[in-house]
Amino acid sequence: MEVKVLFDGYSELKDNIYRANCSCVLVKGPPNVIIDTLTAWDDEKILKALQAESVDCKDIEYVVCTHGHSDHIGCNHLFKNAKHIVGFSISHKDQYFTEPCFQAGEEYVISDKIKVIATPGHTMQDVTVILNSQNGIIAVTGDLFEKFEDLENEYLWKSAGSDSEELQIKNRNKILQIADFIVPGHGPMFKVPQRYKNS
Ligand SMILES: [Zn+2]
Repeated sequence: MEVKVLFDGYSELKDNIYRANCSCVLVKGPPNVIIDTLTAWDDEKILKALQAESVDCKDIEYVVCTHGHSDHIGCNHLFKNAKHIVGFSISHKDQYFTEPCFQAGEEYVISDKIKVIATPGHTMQDVTVILNSQNGIIAVTGDLFEKFEDLENEYLWKSAGSDSEELQIKNRNKILQIADFIVPGHGPMFKVPQRYKNS
């Protein structure tokens, strides 16, 4: 398994215009997985990035969107052969799957190295992808974490919108304990500093 961050997410306010796009991660398997697919205007960007990795859209087996916001689901339609996991919603074409039940805390196991777990807070149906890589545990969290700086500045994740700050704090802490690295929703991947680990 190889984990490639295709695009670092960002969010910034400049000249009174707020711009944001998500982090997008490719897991080269098998199974091939893409996590968060930018906005609906980013087809070309994604196709080019996949081409550079010698991966074809039709060879992606799973699309996982950490939640249903427009900057995380935009290019899902490129991946017609994949099962789509969008937050707690799991589907392929018009078929919807009721298992596993994320609401009940169940996990979606994609392989022995890849699983999807419920981490609500930013929205009530956020999920995080846990990747057991050679270099350690990588958590692709979507907007559970906005960017590295929000570890010290809670305004950053709270101002990005939080449907339950209480749940988000709980799940942020859970991920900080599990993960060696975090790919946040709107910033580059970072290593979890030791001081955030409960001893
Ligand atoms: Zn976002």
